[in-house]
Amino acid sequence: MTTKPMEVTCPACNKGGQTQTACARCGCDLTGLRTVAEAASAAMSAARAALRRTDWSGALDQAEASWQLLHQPNAARLAFLAAAVLRDTAAALRWRRRASTSDE
Ligand SMILES: [Zn+2]
Repeated sequence: MTTKPMEVTCPACNKGGQTQTACARCGCDLTGLRTVAEAASAAMSAARAALRRTDWSGALDQAEASWQLLHQPNAARLAFLAAAVLRDTAAALRWRRRASTSDE
């Protein structure tokens, strides 16, 4: 288990790979952003754990929680998969659209 600080991209100057509490380029405070990113990451870990248990609705709930914190394509793809397995076509299509529009 690593305790390396999560990398974030500075919202002010767009410098990526930031691991300090303040941006190395512009000095922007990154602690709030990192807290949100870590919570989103924890929700994704919970979503993956739910997938391994074949707890599809739990996986969908956690992926959705992660997405609400941070719009990342992996959260949308996981939610798409879970919604498809649950035969919720409308939700699956909505998540597929989110996954394709949030690709970087
Ligand atoms: Zn910056």
